[in-house]
Amino acid sequence: MNSTSAAKFIFITGGVVSSLGKGLASASLGTILQARGYKVKLRKLDPYLNVDPGTMSPYQHGECYVTDDGAETDLDLGHYERFTGVNAKKSDNITTGKIYSNVIAKERRGDYLGATIQVIPHVTDAIKEYILSDISDEDFILCEIGGTVGDIESLPFIEAIRQLGNELGLSKTCFLHVTLLPFIKTAGELKTKPTQHSVKELQGMGIQPDILLCRTENIIPEEQKSKIALFCNLKSETVIEALDSSSIYDVPIAYHNQGLDNQVCKHFELDLSKKPDLSRWIKINKIQNSSEGNVNIGIVGKYTSMIDAYKSLIEAVNHGGLANKVKITIKWIDSELIEDKNSNIKNIFKDINGIIVPGGFGKRGSEGKINSINFARLNNIPFFGICFGMQMAVLEFARNVLKLDNASSSEFGKTDLSLIGLLTEWQTKTGLETRTENSNLGGTMRLGAYECKLVENSFVKSIYKKNTISERHRHRYEVNNKFYLDFKKNGLIFSGMSPDNLLPEILEISSHPWFIGVQFHPELKSKPFNPHPLFASFIKASLNQSRLL
Ligand code: GLN
Repeated sequence: MNSTSAAKFIFITGGVVSSLGKGLASASLGTILQARGYKVKLRKLDPYLNVDPGTMSPYQHGECYVTDDGAETDLDLGHYERFTGVNAKKSDNITTGKIYSNVIAKERRGDYLGATIQVIPHVTDAIKEYILSDISDEDFILCEIGGTVGDIESLPFIEAIRQLGNELGLSKTCFLHVTLLPFIKTAGELKTKPTQHSVKELQGMGIQPDILLCRTENIIPEEQKSKIALFCNLKSETVIEALDSSSIYDVPIAYHNQGLDNQVCKHFELDLSKKPDLSRWIKINKIQNSSEGNVNIGIVGKYTSMIDAYKSLIEAVNHGGLANKVKITIKWIDSELIEDKNSNIKNIFKDINGIIVPGGFGKRGSEGKINSINFARLNNIPFFGICFGMQMAVLEFARNVLKLDNASSSEFGKTDLSLIGLLTEWQTKTGLETRTENSNLGGTMRLGAYECKLVENSFVKSIYKKNTISERHRHRYEVNNKFYLDFKKNGLIFSGMSPDNLLPEILEISSHPWFIGVQFHPELKSKPFNPHPLFASFIKASLNQSRLL
């Protein structure tokens, strides 16, 4: 198999334990290579059987990251986009489920002409095809393999990249293995054995890593690096230290200082004299170190015990902090604990300067969200409702201002006053999409980037400074615009609409210091070096609020 492009492939695997930050490591390497003037693309190969993470519980898998082209993907793609600014696509997240669905569909069509379908070569060929597909003029394709080396389910992926290593050759492939050096307190030592074993595991599958990135809480002494190199069949300089860092945005500079990009370039025999331009990261680092003051942001959600469910949101809030040169403290508020009106909300929100009600699903916890929105509205606390948060703001206003006591969402069951209803028809770039209550759950939401028109003289227009915006969606329900005029008469306007004027996309209350709800997920497009305007503005308003206290 031959790749027609000139791209070089870096395969990133993980060993010893999960949660090593492989995604962050890949994203960081991606951005440093960009800083050296190369064009990069990042891909995630996930060994689980789900076709995509869209149907996975946020409690188990964290956030489902949505791309412009409407793919529901792994949260690591969020890191990739935030660090490199390169928009991910459907073809950048591959799962075993997706591979098998395609292989089996081909088998049913008879495309294999009677062959016995096997993991090798049919599944591995399908994986290789994905890895090599949809590449244009990129210099580097970074492919992260999910899971930990040694897992049964990742075997076909490891085998596929081994074959690619062979077929494309050393000059076009590099294997980067991320491992852990645990520090044993009683011995006062960093231990190399788990790394040795995990490399042995990889070697047993035919892959000799070219570079090791060793996660550690302590500096790795030179003799330990030499020891790892000796046992893992490597040169000492290719054993790179990846020390824990207090901010993820310090990682690119730290990895560069440890020589990661140098070793990659050396491997591919590229020009080493050119140093990367890391000025955007140096700038962020400076802002982080010089930020003064603190803003407390309350996030009212249902998945607060699994904050990876809000990964992009946390980052976007922090970007808002960078834009205002202020530190952010996030206070997690479990919406189920404030369902009861007597739950002492006042005390819970006592030092909160801004309230976010983020995206969510289902009735559980929704009354707590409505109560917190009511508190923000009545007490002039900046409020930002995202997707489900906007929908709950509509219910809060309908019940408490319009006095529509039964106002509800059809997501919560049968209702005769459905202010939020199932979206059954909507326009996409390619035509009309339709849904019913009985549609499959996977991949059937309104997904990906849609345009939205901003209303003249609205607050959001002054924030975005644009007439039309494009933001990413992931939802099944939509605000029913039947009550549009009643809302308007009472001070809540829909200041962003779909281009056909049918779907309310943004709401705002102009008499409030900052009360905005959006049907989309602005957090997905925020970058540390380009904070999203809504988050920058929301944090500014929250900072002003903190000064009033
Ligand atoms: N559950 C809501 C819907 O499907 C909101 C989804 C979300 O917040 N992403 O419309």
